[in-house]
Amino acid sequence: MRPIAEIEDAQAGLAAIRRDIHAHPELAFQETRTSDLVAKQLAQWGLEVHRGIGKTGLVGVLRGKMGKGKRSIGLRADMDALPMPEHNKFAHASKNPGRMHGCGHDGHTAMLLGAAQHLAANPDFEGTVNFIFQPAEEGGNAGARAMIQDGLFERFPCDEIYGMHNMPGFPTGMFAFRKGPTMASSNRFDIIVRGTGGHAAQPHKAVDTIVIAAEMVGVLQTLISRHKNPIDVAVVSVTQIHAGDAYNVLPGEAVIRGTVRTFSTQVLDEIEANMRRMAETLPRVHGGTGELQFYRAYPPLVNWDAPTDFAAQVAEDVFGADKVDRNTPQHGGAEDFSFYLEQVPGSYLFIGNGGGEHREAAYHGMGPCELHNPNYDFNDELLPVGSTFWVRLVQAFFARA
Ligand SMILES: [Zn+2]
Ligand SMILES: [Zn+2]
Repeated sequence: MRPIAEIEDAQAGLAAIRRDIHAHPELAFQETRTSDLVAKQLAQWGLEVHRGIGKTGLVGVLRGKMGKGKRSIGLRADMDALPMPEHNKFAHASKNPGRMHGCGHDGHTAMLLGAAQHLAANPDFEGTVNFIFQPAEEGGNAGARAMIQDGLFERFPCDEIYGMHNMPGFPTGMFAFRKGPTMASSNRFDIIVRGTGGHAAQPHKAVDTIVIAAEMVGVLQTLISRHKNPIDVAVVSVTQIHAGDAYNVLPGEAVIRGTVRTFSTQVLDEIEANMRRMAETLPRVHGGTGELQFYRAYPPLVNWDAPTDFAAQVAEDVFGADKVDRNTPQHGGAEDFSFYLEQVPGSYLFIGNGGGEHREAAYHGMGPCELHNPNYDFNDELLPVGSTFWVRLVQAFFARA
């Protein structure tokens, strides 16, 4: 099958909206122009608009005209851009220096708007659709958590929730699904090693935090190789070591920083506990002390089985089995849609953005068309495909027994 004809007809309008958003990228919790634009469109199509949920977040509510169905579905798009320069030269390139829609959230917003427009004109279903436009997905800002804390699910109950992200390098318009743990948890740590500073020529009078820190980096490797069940996937990376200012001074303090990624909370709990023991114990061997500060940014994204099967079946029914991968590999990136899935059944899926063939050599930057790359651009061919998917998902959801 092809995209819904009316949505295809609306493509030029959706592409114009997408490019407008692309040209005006806004960072986490600053998406005022973007949310104004979204709110205006939703109101124009007759949806009930609720703003200021999670600061710049908003929800468009659409009630079906067939009976008084009590069931409800949530569809989510993210709206924020990245603090990075854009190298593209096309007309819709970023007008805000140092900010770019390098992750395609402009496209996600436009695809969801396309679905809202079509369903508002064709409300032949029984129940409620909550169109969730979320701020601040990037950089650990957790816009999803901010919306939940503002009462998202109390005010706009959702029996199920779905989200969709474009996937560069995957064929244009193909869909990818995965049940269970799909994206990693993202976590940061600081280990502060305290010793006694001193003269570099008299190490016996000091507790040398440099030597302890170097040893610590080695010991941390055993979190993965010796302390974790080998069949569980996890990453511990030390990314910063800070200590010392002079050639002849032993610093009294060293700080080690890094990131931990896991696909389950249980493995994360184990790694944090083991890391704490190492951080506090190893410096004592040498007469110093150590402290661990551990910050959990995003939990692992775990897709629910039945909603994932349901969404994959909808994609197969609409676009054909050859357009659907039901077992896409796990992804080491993190995504705050995981907060929703901790509370409500649902699934987070991917739509192929292609290999960059939609770009024009004269107007796009060189290099790969990958997420968070200054040459990236969302593929407008996806707009009617993604909008059609959302519409068919809603219709199938309410038609479901
Ligand atoms: Zn991103
Ligand atoms: Zn993204």
